Amino acid sequence: MLIYCFFLFTTFPSGLLGGTKRGFKDYTEYEPGNMSLIITAPHGGELTPSKQENGDPWPDRTAGCLGSSGCIWKHSCGEVDAEKCPAITESDLFTATVARDMADGIKTITGLRPHVVYCRLSRSKLDANRAMGPAALSVPDAVTAYRNYTTFIAKAVSAIPGRGLLLDIHGHGHKLQRTELGYLIHGTELDSGGYDGNNSSIKSLSNFWCGNDNACSRKLIRGNWSLGHFMNEEGLRAVPSPQEPVPKVSKTSIFLSGGLTVMKYGSKEEGKIDAIQMELPQELRLNKTAWQDSRLKLAKAISGFFKINYLRDNRRTINL
Ligand SMILES: [Zn+2]
Repeated sequence: MLIYCFFLFTTFPSGLLGGTKRGFKDYTEYEPGNMSLIITAPHGGELTPSKQENGDPWPDRTAGCLGSSGCIWKHSCGEVDAEKCPAITESDLFTATVARDMADGIKTITGLRPHVVYCRLSRSKLDANRAMGPAALSVPDAVTAYRNYTTFIAKAVSAIPGRGLLLDIHGHGHKLQRTELGYLIHGTELDSGGYDGNNSSIKSLSNFWCGNDNACSRKLIRGNWSLGHFMNEEGLRAVPSPQEPVPKVSKTSIFLSGGLTVMKYGSKEEGKIDAIQMELPQELRLNKTAWQDSRLKLAKAISGFFKINYLRDNRRTINL
């Protein structure tokens, strides 16, 4: 019952700037913003069409088949291999609402609204955070929605003139009720400390402030200029952060370090747009009181992180 109460939440006054764009059959949506921040919500969709536009069936996503040169991602591929070619179909409940509330909260605080891109299809029909094959399993309408989603993100990216940030919003079902921040650094590497802080999905930011100074760049991931720090300042648990610098990965404690979106649109390989995957715990997303209490705190944390790291261009002011 708890989760259904979520729909009764009051929302921030709509900060929409107008010009909202919708993809094919409204399966995807793009709210253009006016700042160098993008919020994406690939797994918060609820639409579960059983048929495609032309009347053909639209089966739920399944695992793929293992062929001689890798996984085959088609519904008619034969015997599936759920271990080697898996498909996760559970949606990240309420993360579309979380994304919109975050954007509205940031507008309330800063006067500027992020770009927001949503996939409105359930993950059982499209996984917008995977490559095209496993994402859509060659279902034509799913392929079209996938292309719309990536085109919308590309539009948002192209609207940002210089350095910028993308936050990919998800929800995890892990026991520990903390937000997991994914920088494409594996949890075991965070635990051991054997990672290069300059080789992450915020590489552009790291280079900008720290150059090749690895100790400095690690502070952007878990120190006083990190997103985790600004969440701690608002009383929110996050890992990595100054309060919880390492996830302490074990068989019963999983840490999600980032998926396709942060890999593709973040700066690990190239470019000036950084990306962080935010995996929110159930307690924050599914509990009415907790979300009412936390949404503005989360917006404040993101605004603070963004302001200190992206709205200043003078490297000489850094004192990490
Ligand atoms: Zn997810």
